Parts: sequence; structure tokens; C-alpha cells
Amino acid sequence: MQTSEPRDIHDVLRQTWGFSSFRPVQTKVIEHVMAGRDTLALLPTGGGKSLCFQAPALAMGRLCLVISPLIALMKDQVETLRARGVRARALTSELSRPEIDVILDNAALGKLDFLYVAPERLGSDLFTARLHRLPLGLIAVDEAHCISQWGYDFRPAYQRIAEVRKVKPEVPVIALTASATPTVAQDIMEKLAFRAPNMIHGSFARPELVLWVDRTEDRMGRLIRIAQRVNGTGIVYMRERKATVRIAETLQREGISAKAYHAGLTYEQRDAVQASWMKGGTRVVVATNAFGMGIDKPDVRFVVHLESPPDLESYYQEAGRAGRDGQRSFAVLLTQPHDPERLREKVLRSFPEIEEVRRVYQSFSDMNRIALGSGALEQYPVDLRGIATRTGLSPATVSYALKALELDGALVLSEGARSPSRVFIQADHHAVNRLRSTNEKLGPVLECLLRLYGGMFEEAAIIEEDRVAQQLKWSTNMVVDALRNLQQQGLIIYHERSDDPSATLLVPRRDAQRLMLERSSLDARKERAVARAEAMLTYTNEPLRCRTRILLDYFGEPLATDCGQCDRCRARASKADPPPGVRNPEEVRRDRWQQDEDNALQP
Ligand code: ADP
Ligand code: MG
Repeated sequence: MQTSEPRDIHDVLRQTWGFSSFRPVQTKVIEHVMAGRDTLALLPTGGGKSLCFQAPALAMGRLCLVISPLIALMKDQVETLRARGVRARALTSELSRPEIDVILDNAALGKLDFLYVAPERLGSDLFTARLHRLPLGLIAVDEAHCISQWGYDFRPAYQRIAEVRKVKPEVPVIALTASATPTVAQDIMEKLAFRAPNMIHGSFARPELVLWVDRTEDRMGRLIRIAQRVNGTGIVYMRERKATVRIAETLQREGISAKAYHAGLTYEQRDAVQASWMKGGTRVVVATNAFGMGIDKPDVRFVVHLESPPDLESYYQEAGRAGRDGQRSFAVLLTQPHDPERLREKVLRSFPEIEEVRRVYQSFSDMNRIALGSGALEQYPVDLRGIATRTGLSPATVSYALKALELDGALVLSEGARSPSRVFIQADHHAVNRLRSTNEKLGPVLECLLRLYGGMFEEAAIIEEDRVAQQLKWSTNMVVDALRNLQQQGLIIYHERSDDPSATLLVPRRDAQRLMLERSSLDARKERAVARAEAMLTYTNEPLRCRTRILLDYFGEPLATDCGQCDRCRARASKADPPPGVRNPEEVRRDRWQQDEDNALQP
């Protein structure tokens, strides 16, 4: 069941990635993995976690099962690996049964090096039936904090990984995350049934990152100043979609090249904004937290938050996108006097009443006509506004209720992100050839698809209806009609592109009153979310202590000395000077701070 010959790991590094050496912490992690030990690797974002499992897996020459929480992340990694000639595939919730079948067959036959799986797939009959036949050498759990109820991004389906381990007890596991407090780290190792605790903690310190918190009534003014004074690209984060557009426009009026990015834009729009920013055509992206996952731009010089994220995990993740090249960069959090109350309120609001959750589940199921006892592992569109109208709840409450259902394991929400059209040919070559020569409407479409994209018999290919239409000199609508027709005849599987959010039921539809919503677990989650928000506020409102210290303390990495460059360290340094007599000391202090900040912000 060997997948390929074992190879020297340094050859793998050179030949596949073209890198000359591993980073020191990677070397340490890899040694443990190659020795067959269960390993938890805690490395900051950009620390090179992927190589920690990809290189050993290729060196072993056996299949690596990778569990990853987001379709976008999986696609990114699979595409990158394939571009390097590595045999990688992903099982996502958007694939149909026949497509999954083909991929699993290939995996079982040793034709794959990496199989990426969304956690909810682990429980499906297709997967469990094949699991024991997979020639696994390693199980990699990316974003492993998702397995912990104590973490900030709990995904119940992650707990299924323990079942995989029961079937394959001899296969070692490597868990990777960039955000785990000591409690969460402990929990990860327990939930993954580590044979022995084994954690490798890379340093989270980012000396190139200057942390700054500024309380101001004029956030826009401050933002403009920062964007004008700090050269290079930046990201501005806020929570509300509409506001991103407004802020981007304001920046543009100031002559700063800026674009908005949020999950409400179409796939093409988001792609265009991201591409232009990556290439340096756009300097600043004003975005919701939909932006940044998996983005690897080394020369981001500033990340400004116009609103406080709900916890320090999210904050450090987002702020840490600055300065990945190791050059001095700024992470600025702008707050207003009433922010603490607002954040607390928001966190509380994000936990709706059980009754509200039930009503949302009922409406969602009714609107999609899901019969009781059916619908498991099917994907359905989520019409937020429709559900809101039906239930009389606000769209925000509806989306929090859906999130609660997700946390409870009833369904999984898709990011509503990139989901271009895809076609998979289900019929055999014979049937397709017959159609090509006999059907003058459907024949040309098939012909054109095969010519433009090819390979659709083995797996779904991404297609553009516009491009097919152009080639055929048809209208796009005609192409879409023909594709739907082919699908109805069972010849192809046509996944139409979608920018709408969707939900996949993980368990068959139940009576809403019987939903397993436990008040105690909902309450416990709420308490933990409140505790995380309070930690965020402690960081924001800290009057004296070094910001870097507070942050690293939180992640279990005590710092020996103050960073000397955050706003707190700077303020302390300037206070040491005797204040000039005549002026009011508070005014002097503010003045100095301003000056100091100016100096600090000069890269
Ligand atoms: P993480 O998942 O920890 O955020 P990634 O695995 O995405 O980080 O790696 C971040 C970047 O660092 C990638 O561009 C990757 O190619 C690069 N990288 C990782 N390891 C090395 C190495 N040993 N030498 C050079 N570049 C590396
Ligand atoms: Mg990663």
C-alpha cells in the first residue's frame, strides 16, 4: 500500500519547494513527526505550519489525510501543492457523490499524496466505508483550535477526528494552530487522543510589529493620517460590510488608493480586489474579517482596526498579517469611548435565545422544503432576509441563530465565498460521443467544454459559462440552459456558481422542538465568549503595561522584557522627562504622545 518511495526530506524540500533549509522550529516539529510521535505544533501565522506536515508526508511516501475547516483554505493549499507537482485533492461539501467516489478510489489505490477533508465529511458513509483502506502515513489537523470548545472558533465536527484515530490507531497525528491559550492546547491534545502529550511551541513574538492602541473621537482622521504617513500597503478592518465601502470611498477622496472587500461582494469582485491589492495596484483594502484567510502578502506595512475584534485570538491573527517579511510594521487599534459597552453588548447579542434558534431552524427547513428525517449532507441556500421576514427576527439574530445551530452540530455554514461553476461528466465516453454527433443543441456545448477544459471525466473542472458562450457565439443564458438540460438527463453534474451563503445539514431534519440544544452548553459558550471579550478589553484599556507583553502572556509565552516600542512603552518613556512648568501636564502629555506617535509611525 506504499504511495511512493520514501525520500530524503531535504531532497523533498529542495525539489518540491525550492527552499534550502527548514526553519529551526520546523526542524524540531518534523523530527517528532518522522519519529511517529503525536505532535501539537503551535506556530504563529506565517510560521510555516504547512511544511511541518507536507514535507514529512512526502518523505514518508504515504498518504496524508489533512483536516481543514474552510473550503477556501483547502483549495488554496491543494492548488499550491498541485502547482508543485504534488498529487493532492480535496473533499469538500460542494462535491457530489460520484466525484467523491473517484477521489477516494484514487486515494485508496495510492495515487494521492494528500487528501484534504472538511471535518463534516469524516462522518459520511462514503468516507467511513473507505477509511480502513486508505494507505495513511499521517493525519494532519490544521487550525486545530477548532476542536476545542474553549477556543474561539469551535467546530463540533472536528471531534470526529477521534473516530478516525480509532480506525487507524497506528497512524500518528500532527495538530497545527496559531492561536491556542494553554487551556486550549491541553484540550486539543486530549480531544485528538494523543498517545503522549507533546507540544512544540514556536515563539509568537513579532518584534517587527509595533502595537498601538489609540483612543480617539476622530477615527477617520487618524486613519487618514496613518495611511498618509506609513508607506506601503495596508489593511483596515471593521465588522460591518456597508461601512467598508464608505471608508474606502473616504480614503479615495483623500487620494489614497483603497478598495472595499466583504462577503457580500460577488466572487469576481472579491477576486479582483484581492488580486489588485496583491499586485500593488491598490494600496489599502478596507475589509471585514472575510479578508485575509490564507493571504500571504509579505510586505503589508500596517493593519488598522477601526473596531475591536471580539477576542485577542482574532486580533493577533488579523494584526499579524502586517510585517510578514520581518520589516517594521504597525498594528493600530483605534477605539472610541463607548467601545467597551458596545463590544460587551455585541458578544451577548451573538447568543440568541433557544426559542429563536428553533424558529430559525424551522423556517430554514420549511423554505427549503426539507422533509422530517431527510436532508442529511445536502447543501441548501440560506436566504437570511427571507428567514428574518418569516420569523420576525433581525437578520443579525438569524445569522447568530444559524451559527448556534452550527455549534450544535446540526449543520455547517459555507463561507458563501468563492464558488465558481463546475462541471463533472458522469456519463461514459461512449454516451458523450454519441451525443456530440447527434444532438445539435447539447452536442456543441459538450464539445466546447471538453476542448476548453478537458479532464472532466475524472473530476469536476471549473468552467466559465461566458467563455463557453463566446466560443459558441451563443448567449450565456443558452449555455446555462443547455448545461441544466444535460444535468437533468444525468449526463453531467453541473454546480452552478453561487455567491449565496449556504448550509449543509449534518443530521437529517428534526422536529424543531426536539433540537438537541442544551441550555447548559449554550450558556457555557456564552460565558467563555464573554471572558474572551474581557481579555480583549483588558488589552485595549491597559493603562501601563507593555501591549506586547499582555498579548504574549495571553498565549502562554511570558516575555522577559518590555517591547519598548508599543504606545504604552513609548508613553512611559516620554513621561520620564520632567514636564515643562507652564502648561497643563495632561496637555503636555498628549502633545508628547502625538509627537512620539509621529516618530514611531515613521518607518
Ligand atoms: P502558516 O500556515 O503557519 O501561517 P504557511 O505554511 O502558509 O504558514 O507558510 C507561510 C509562508 O512561509 C509561505 O509562503 C511558505 O512558503 C513560507 N515558508 C515556510 N517554510 C519555509 C522555509 N523553510 N523556507 C522558506 N520559506 C518558507
Ligand atoms: Mg496555515
